[in-house]
Amino acid sequence: MTVESLQSFGNHQLSEQVLQALSEMGFEEPSPIQKEAIPLALEGHDLIGQAQTGTGKTAAFGIPITETVNPKFLAIQALIVTPTRELAIQVAEEIAKIGKYRHVKLLPIYGGQPIDRQIRALRMGYQVVVGTPGRLLDHLNRGTLRLQHVKMVVLDEADEMLDMGFIKDIESLLKEVPTENRQMMLFSATMPPGIRKLAQTYMKNPRSVSVSRDELTVPQIEQVFYETSESIKVDALCRIIDNEDIGQGIIFCRTKRGVDELVVALEARGYFADALHGDLDQQHRDRVMKRFRDGKSELLVATDVAARGLDINNVTHVINFDIPQDPVSYVHRIGRTGRVGRKGQAITLILPKEYRQLRLIENLIKTRIRRQELPPMADLSEHQAENLKNQLIRLVKGNDLENYRAIVGDLLDEYDASDVAAAALKYAVEGASVEEKEPEAINFENTGAAAGMVRFFMNIGRVQQISPQEISQWIAKESGIPGNLIGMINIYDRFTFAEVPMEYASRVLRSMHQAMFKGRRVSVEPAKAREAADY
Ligand code: ADP
Ligand code: MG
Repeated sequence: MTVESLQSFGNHQLSEQVLQALSEMGFEEPSPIQKEAIPLALEGHDLIGQAQTGTGKTAAFGIPITETVNPKFLAIQALIVTPTRELAIQVAEEIAKIGKYRHVKLLPIYGGQPIDRQIRALRMGYQVVVGTPGRLLDHLNRGTLRLQHVKMVVLDEADEMLDMGFIKDIESLLKEVPTENRQMMLFSATMPPGIRKLAQTYMKNPRSVSVSRDELTVPQIEQVFYETSESIKVDALCRIIDNEDIGQGIIFCRTKRGVDELVVALEARGYFADALHGDLDQQHRDRVMKRFRDGKSELLVATDVAARGLDINNVTHVINFDIPQDPVSYVHRIGRTGRVGRKGQAITLILPKEYRQLRLIENLIKTRIRRQELPPMADLSEHQAENLKNQLIRLVKGNDLENYRAIVGDLLDEYDASDVAAAALKYAVEGASVEEKEPEAINFENTGAAAGMVRFFMNIGRVQQISPQEISQWIAKESGIPGNLIGMINIYDRFTFAEVPMEYASRVLRSMHQAMFKGRRVSVEPAKAREAADY
């Protein structure tokens, strides 16, 4: 890598030291957001940068900061605010690498670390501080953080900070930075009104740079979804894991509790995964992150907040165990995989009632997510079997089985001992799915529909003052199928028939089970051919 080929990093001459550092970091050319942002930032403009996770925003502000900070002046000259501790550490690491040869003194400051140590560190003098809003404000109030020499302020992942309720803290921080000569940069994946307002209030004639929507839908990511049901969801996940060649994967759950439960459920099935969420203490989170970064763990189960913005390079799979409630989170989540030039897989599990959310996501990313059928239940892996045996041996030796002996005694009167033991194991491994089989395939032939279509019966009609248009909008909304694919709709006094394409029939049936319309619970089922003639 020659220094010359790195000159494309902005039309501006970057210092030898920074070019050397970038070269060692393996950066060959600027990413699109860097190409636009770096020259503007070096010229001193305020900047609003909008781009998805993984597009290289850190260096987009980190390079100008490193070039601008005066390494001979020992005072805080640049302040970077990030929503989470992990992100603060990560940004600090990246900028430390960029500033390796310019010897910029940089300190990350975040909650969860002893404040005394931070106070001592701050006294030693730093030039760039990266921190989370709450802890920065805390230091400001104690008088241990002095911002009067700050010339550059960066708000990283601004939308996330807005969501987390940090806007007031950020405003308090900004008020302490002299406005004269203050250069502000704001980076965000999305631009909700709260962020625009913040920009209007505090920024001077900001330039906007963005990576367009087309580039937002990272093309190297293959996106698929599986439909499953609540009761077999964990097993479905295991089957997918077994079937995929997962190097490293992040599995997303909606809640912290969901994360903990899934980790336990996976462990019971012989899969090892680390949990990452906000209730875990800082040390624990750091340890988990380090293990994962170093490739020592394969699966990370996380909440959105815990994983947002984390830069983990080799993630091969992002699995949405729970579909994200907010379509924008989907973009954030899958941004964790398929980084610069690598291939990634994004897998989403959905319940029938969640097709609507899937549709919203598809609309946002302007891409159809392909449906895939669950792989068949694999045999127990050797590893799982070994694990089970060990657990049983431990229990037998523990000899604390009194409660269960009577049941076994009863069963042994009638059944073979090895059958009973095997059944007990099956129950332990597969749990409730022992009783609940997957729904039987439904016969959609003979519903009296046009060719290639399936006719559904629904128990609402003219009495409820409905129009065909309302019915078709309702079906489209509930099941997430395009409204224009819905065929003939016939409304009678107390019921209605509607036709949908055969390929969508099971999706409509499952997503509209017990669906609500105009405040009524409506039953939706395949019509009978006979009824076509009868009515
Ligand atoms: P964002 O903040 O937009 O989510 P990051 O700044 O965390 O993205 O960058 C994502 C990853 O891409 C990091 O590992 C970073 O080192 C790497 N990266 C950034 N810019 C470049 C570049 N120009 N060439 C190669 N890799 C890059
Ligand atoms: Mg970032």
